[in-house]
Amino acid sequence: MKLTISILDAFHSHDAFQILDQDDFVASSVARPRDVADVQAIVRWANEYLIPLWPISIGRNLGYGGAGPRVRGSMVLDMGHHMNRLLEVNEKQASVLLEPGVTYYNLYDALQAQGSNLWCDTPDLPGGSVMGNALDRGVGYTPYGDHWGKHCGMEVVLPDGSLMRTGMGAVEGANTWQSFQHGFGPSVDGMFTQANNGIVTKIGMWLMPKPKAMQAYQISFAREDDLGAICEALQPLMVRGILGNVPSLRHVVQEAALHGNQSTYWKGPGPMDEATIAKIAKDFGAYWILYGCLYSEGDDCEGAVQIVKQAFSHIPNAQFKRPEETPQGSYLRNRIKIFSGTPDLMELGWVNWVPNGAHLFFAPISPITAKDAEKQFKMVKQRHAQYGFDCFSTFCVGPREMHHICCIIYDKADEKSKWGAYQMLRDMIADAGKEGYGEYRTHMACFDQVMSVYGWNDNALLHFNEKIKDALDPNSIIAPGKSGVWGQRFRGKGWELWNNERRSVPSERNDQSSSNKGMSRSSSLVSQATSAMSSLAAPASRL
Ligand code: ADP
Repeated sequence: MKLTISILDAFHSHDAFQILDQDDFVASSVARPRDVADVQAIVRWANEYLIPLWPISIGRNLGYGGAGPRVRGSMVLDMGHHMNRLLEVNEKQASVLLEPGVTYYNLYDALQAQGSNLWCDTPDLPGGSVMGNALDRGVGYTPYGDHWGKHCGMEVVLPDGSLMRTGMGAVEGANTWQSFQHGFGPSVDGMFTQANNGIVTKIGMWLMPKPKAMQAYQISFAREDDLGAICEALQPLMVRGILGNVPSLRHVVQEAALHGNQSTYWKGPGPMDEATIAKIAKDFGAYWILYGCLYSEGDDCEGAVQIVKQAFSHIPNAQFKRPEETPQGSYLRNRIKIFSGTPDLMELGWVNWVPNGAHLFFAPISPITAKDAEKQFKMVKQRHAQYGFDCFSTFCVGPREMHHICCIIYDKADEKSKWGAYQMLRDMIADAGKEGYGEYRTHMACFDQVMSVYGWNDNALLHFNEKIKDALDPNSIIAPGKSGVWGQRFRGKGWELWNNERRSVPSERNDQSSSNKGMSRSSSLVSQATSAMSSLAAPASRL
């Protein structure tokens, strides 16, 4: 077996946007399998030496923990480094089969090179992996924006090293693996998303055929208080499928951050005051801006344009604009790329809002109603004012709900800013939980807290997941702690992370009484991993 290992590799070993101490959530090593057999061998080796593995595809899961493992000292399994082939493009069926290391840029380039008529829906971070984003249930902005919803079939190495294919892939010789998502019997695919039940080595994805016509647009709304009316107008359009993509409703502060940093608008200490935000809103001509795109197989999208204009016409001063009606360099002119399956990075400009900018996401789900959107927005605004951060809210709208994505931008070189951002995130998760809102995704430091929000009927959902985890992975090898699901070797032994704990490793917390109850110290995990690695030089048969 050929295996390249680099100890503490710069990027794949930790979270680039660390929110606990720099040496927390850090890997002891990084392994880069070359093929499925390597993955199986590593999993068997990890079982033998009880080394936790943290699989990543590309590892740019920024805002949610990056490449860092939840259990310090784990071996990061860098699936994408060598296993990066686009295995199949089925132009007629509009599907692909790919390995972990295929990024959105790679897929886009390959489709372009083939003269393909297919689009690949990309998220705001297109440097990441198509597979990794689907597995963490990320979103994009075309009609194919629900990435997990567009997967079709997977190949998975299970925690005992065996290999399984899901859906139609389980049928010997099937040519329908990327045609039908469900196969036969209990559907197991979801057990490998935001999960720790296996390592995915191949995934099928459906792609969108380029439509005949598209129309990108923005609608600007003059008052912050328009939020409720906007949501009520959006809701029937989404349920009836009139708005073709995943529209996003952005607060103007986030918009402003694409065109400058905080010092461009505000010289004072701390977050901007309301008067400054009002001035920004005046300059940008809006407090909220809805970005969307319509698609059609007809000659144009004018029918739908009229329906959309009409739906918002009762909101005073609402303004519908097409890209050519906006200034050069506008976000909308750029957003056409994302709306048509072309990776682009403009969106990330807001990370530079403060020096050494890093971000965390608070991402609760909201129904598309005035009452809920207003309640959530008020809640996050209050917490941002309390903790001294500017508030960046965007609602990404799905057919029946909104992902309220609230970017917390902090100075990662400033301990106070970093800790404040983290504590604010925790407070917002708790606030939301009390009101019955759960997050769709979170930073690994908050996995346990968010899972506790999904606690209906004495944590029945978590217990179900724990039973599956223990049955499949009795040694708790794969990604312990992912999404708050801990295998029996770790569970209840102090690894769960709650408020005010600055270290993820139980034995390194100040309050030794509530932690360090059974799991060996993480530092010994590091030395255990280091000595176990010497066995990797052993003959292939051993592995
Ligand atoms: P990105 O594509 O944004 O760079 P990652 O590669 O970090 O994202 O993947 C996001 C998350 O998805 C990881 O933290 C991990 O939990 C999960 N994941 C990624 N690749 C795999 C894989 N091949 N098998 C199992 N889980 C994976």
